[in-house]
Amino acid sequence: MTLLNVAEICANTRTLGPGKRFVIWVQGCCFNCPGCVSPDWIPQKQAALIEVKKLAEVILSVPELDGLTVSGGEPMLQAKALSELFVELRQNRDISIICYSGFKLQELRTKNNDNINKILSQIDVLIDGQYIAELNDNQGWRGSSNQVVHFLTSRHQQEAELFLERKRDVEVHLRNDSALMVGVPPQQFKRDFHQALNLS
Ligand code: SF4
Repeated sequence: MTLLNVAEICANTRTLGPGKRFVIWVQGCCFNCPGCVSPDWIPQKQAALIEVKKLAEVILSVPELDGLTVSGGEPMLQAKALSELFVELRQNRDISIICYSGFKLQELRTKNNDNINKILSQIDVLIDGQYIAELNDNQGWRGSSNQVVHFLTSRHQQEAELFLERKRDVEVHLRNDSALMVGVPPQQFKRDFHQALNLS
């Protein structure tokens, strides 16, 4: 039984890739980018441990789902669980898979790690590189312009403009006692959002 350490999930969003998508944010990152949009998910601690097969079932049960986006946290720190998840999904349905990583693609390739290689062979798009606040150009599905959008398959190649230049938006999903912001936020949005909710 393989477990994925998950910080958050969102079963239905349109703000992190083309179409209707399921999003997983993994817990734990080995980077510490100043201005990271999800600092709570940097600590490498136990969050919600979810069995990979169960998670695949949940994802596949979402009606009319176009794809899965994985962010974090650093997905490659959980390469074994994610590679199994992606294989499980693809064995059942050919959905789109987008993955963010603070590691550069070249770096991932030279690691020569079977699980990372398996991930790279399954995903359609990798958005790589650490977030650099000074290079946040306020557009697209990447956080800063140093990050490269790698189309590893042809699935989303025609939509490159969306990844690079799309006007940013976010969805706010209300939970029992909190609100989850989903998407790459426009500049200043996080501050305004927290102020509006009186969180800071
Ligand atoms: S790599 Fe991503 S999750 Fe990790 S610290 Fe940087 S911005 Fe945050």
